[in-house]
Amino acid sequence: MEKLSKNAKIGIGVAATVVAIGGYWYLSSKRASEPVTHVGDDKQAEQEPEGYQDPGYEDAVCLYREEAIKRKKLVDNVHYNNKLVLLKGKEYHGKSTVVFTLKNKDYQDGEVFIDFQCKIIKTLAINGKAVEVKDHFLNQRINFNSGVLQEGENTIELTFLNNYRKTGTGLHKFVDPADDGEYLYTQFEPFDAHRAIPCFDQPDIKATMTLALIAPEEHVSLSNSHEDADFTNTEKPEESSQFIEENGFRQAIQGIGNYRITKFSKTPKISAYLFAIISGPYDVVEKQGNAPGKDEPLRMRFLCRKSLVEYISQAYDHMHEAVVTGIEWYTEFFGTPFPWSKYDQIFCPEFRFGAMENVGAVTFSEAYIPTGKLGTLHLTRLTNTTLHELCHQWFGNLATMTWWDDLWLNEAFATYMAYHCTSENEILAKKTPGFWVALNMRKQAALNSDSLSTTHPIVKDAVTTDSADDMVNAITYGKGSSFIKQLIHMIGREAMSKGCTKYFKNHAYSNTNIDDFLDALSYGCATADVELEVNLRKYCIDFLTHQGVNKVDTKIEDIEGGIKITFTKSNMKYSQYINAQKMDYYLFDEEYNCELHSIVLTDDSEPQTVEIKGRTSKNTFILPNAGDHAYILSSVSDRFIDHFKEEGIQKVPSNLDRTVIWRTLIAMVKNKKLKSTEFFDIVAKNIFKESDLILLSTLLTTVKPFISLYIPKNMYGDLVKKMFEGAKNLYESLPESQKELKNLVKNHIFSYLHDKDHIKAAASWYSEGTIELEDEDKKAIILAAIRSQYLEESQTKDLLEKYLQDNQTDRGERFKITADAAVPTKENKERVWNIIINPRENELSSWEYRAYISGFYSRFQKDLLKDYPSKYLEALPKLVQIGEKDLMTIFTSGAFPPSYLIDQDFLDKVNKIVTDFEKKDKVKYDSFIKLARGIIESKQGQARIEEFARIKDSEEEEKEEPEEEPEIPEEELDESEITEINIEGVINNVRCSREEAVQALRVNRNDVTKAVSHLNKK
Ligand SMILES: [Zn+2]
Repeated sequence: MEKLSKNAKIGIGVAATVVAIGGYWYLSSKRASEPVTHVGDDKQAEQEPEGYQDPGYEDAVCLYREEAIKRKKLVDNVHYNNKLVLLKGKEYHGKSTVVFTLKNKDYQDGEVFIDFQCKIIKTLAINGKAVEVKDHFLNQRINFNSGVLQEGENTIELTFLNNYRKTGTGLHKFVDPADDGEYLYTQFEPFDAHRAIPCFDQPDIKATMTLALIAPEEHVSLSNSHEDADFTNTEKPEESSQFIEENGFRQAIQGIGNYRITKFSKTPKISAYLFAIISGPYDVVEKQGNAPGKDEPLRMRFLCRKSLVEYISQAYDHMHEAVVTGIEWYTEFFGTPFPWSKYDQIFCPEFRFGAMENVGAVTFSEAYIPTGKLGTLHLTRLTNTTLHELCHQWFGNLATMTWWDDLWLNEAFATYMAYHCTSENEILAKKTPGFWVALNMRKQAALNSDSLSTTHPIVKDAVTTDSADDMVNAITYGKGSSFIKQLIHMIGREAMSKGCTKYFKNHAYSNTNIDDFLDALSYGCATADVELEVNLRKYCIDFLTHQGVNKVDTKIEDIEGGIKITFTKSNMKYSQYINAQKMDYYLFDEEYNCELHSIVLTDDSEPQTVEIKGRTSKNTFILPNAGDHAYILSSVSDRFIDHFKEEGIQKVPSNLDRTVIWRTLIAMVKNKKLKSTEFFDIVAKNIFKESDLILLSTLLTTVKPFISLYIPKNMYGDLVKKMFEGAKNLYESLPESQKELKNLVKNHIFSYLHDKDHIKAAASWYSEGTIELEDEDKKAIILAAIRSQYLEESQTKDLLEKYLQDNQTDRGERFKITADAAVPTKENKERVWNIIINPRENELSSWEYRAYISGFYSRFQKDLLKDYPSKYLEALPKLVQIGEKDLMTIFTSGAFPPSYLIDQDFLDKVNKIVTDFEKKDKVKYDSFIKLARGIIESKQGQARIEEFARIKDSEEEEKEEPEEEPEIPEEELDESEITEINIEGVINNVRCSREEAVQALRVNRNDVTKAVSHLNKK
């Protein structure tokens, strides 16, 4: 699976009516969750279906590792035969047969069960004998108490009626507002297969499956294997009718109209989370590609919903190229041919993750669909994700972790290998030159998470499937891939490749754990004749099973004839261990010439020294971790910063090493070795000189939260203004020939919309069409206008209407929700908050829920929102217990009030709620506890960094201007000369009354910066 990158743009509107409410206006909307009338619904409304409803249908249920271990010992040789009638509307019918071997009839009650979150099971038969459903079906499990099953083969048959889901898990349904097309797809990892079909929902009970889907005739239906048969009832009336009768679907298909039956061939043995069911009026493009070791070219299909096909073909071409290249590369590197019989890639609406590696039917988020010409940034993400999912066809799908503790065996490899594959292919590397920089972004996310108390080792103790779900995080992906990168740096490519070959030879179509991989790796190292300075097994286990980050500090001293470098290793907070690592470093001279060196850092805190002849400390600057192979935090000296800060960073030739410098500086801010304000100065001098698109994009994306989180709050207005102007000037100066860089810079202009003049200017660019704007740009302008109210009401309204007219899609619908939520009236905020705290009652999909929350808070609306931190505290316990993890997560983190509304007292109160849940049930509420604690710690960290910069700044100011009163201009302005814009500017920067702002502006001649500084010094 691939996470969804924060940079990825999602989304796609609807005509809206603007109505007045509460003294302002908001948009009335036809909510996407309103029931839609379908032919199928009428039938469902008429008669209550027979059968038994699970009273625990809506509860939060997870599978414990202990239960999975016991079940695995008892159950084997599993085959599923599923037949589903995919009705229009809210529900689907199914008939399933589960055949399996019971290895020992002497089992305890509760040890053997089939997972199934199903609304109604109509009939249930065990080994040919009909049984009462209610005797077996409870809390999303079909239980077989001791004595019910026979040793050897057992056959369970059931018929059922279930709901489609709206959370992007299980069998998700999306109705496209553009053309009413009903699109279905599944997302099963880690524990969501049983939300669609009855199964043993754990990775080490691999099974085969046969599947038949009955869907409206205009649908295309796909699954993991080839279609054996695909016909409509008009094409083959007799065969269709016979199939319907045989399976008792006559009643179920009433109202479906003409239908299509698609039957799929039996799959190989795969884990339940890797099954896929896709059906809908998708647009299909078919291609082929050679796969080494296969007799025939592989069939590769590309699917996307009809309303989004405009720009898709360029994406398909690149994905096809990446897949063909990747299959060849992985086949060679893993010494194992592509394991499956076909390879389809499907873009899915409202997809929960970036992409998912279902065997032979990979699903992608629509965020990867280009909305214009495919540029380098987009291409880098698309190529990488394509190769990531392809890698899973081996790591994850062919050899699968036994339990979720070893999720790294899937994700660390897929994440890293995609970049390594790119690095060894000239065409892909040239098209996406920033790929290593992109991998570094993942490492940074990991270093952040790994510095919190809520971190965990790469191999996590996953007690339940809930904690498995939480492992889709920066540690598994970012630290895991950093480990693989470090490992290859230590042992070399050949040993790694030979180790992987052995791993797949021994474990194809089965399950593995950390030891299986390390055995294969030892074999690889031995075969490749690698001599190591470390004990391989210990080095790997230490890295994989300990949490936390190591820090490496360096010191250069003069010795006779040269220099001595001392490397000091230490544990950061919450780190359990010092890992051995092979680290490269650069020695620069004053002319920026550099020399590459390497050291194996030992797994202890003993300082290590290296002597180098012919240099002096005066002409040597050291940059630790050149090439970004080590997973560490490091620092550079003040001399380094002074020498490099003006323009030296650009003189470092590799984009990855420049990234390392930037990341080192950022880490120094977070560790309070460098003031955030000083860092910002370095940024302002260097950022717009950066030529690598990915690095520039990363920096621009990093700087925005930096300003709002780490810089003293009173400087916010000034700094965003500076960034807006810097980006705008650069945008205007760039020639058309650098279109992509120009576009990138332009996108960032709008993330700094805060100043009244800027918002007005941006709005006129939009309404007059002066600058070509992309979707995200337009949304940023409209939201800034609504939130700030700096424009005439009618102007804002026109912009929004224009946007919605142009985007009569789900993207537009969701943006309307966000725009509505942003409207700054008391009544509106109350209305929105009521929806936010009652997502179930309002039947919100996860995407609608996010849309409400993302519009709610705004820095412009501090007064209006000041009571919401306490309302958050009130609502939080209820949302924690809602029984839908996705909604809990979105509320806890998304609705968490921003830093400008909260203080330590608030954080203490959240912590109290967390502690209460911890006391109640630590395992059950583990996800919430970790999530909330992580947020609290991050907020506290931000406050400390901000304080550090503020105290440092004030110390320096005191040094510079001891005891002096601020300089007051001789002549004060008359109050009438003070502009409204500037009064607001001051109020936005300093907590002061209007009168104080006016007075400060009078004495500072209407200069906001001076007035702010004047008030701050008071
Ligand atoms: Zn993955």
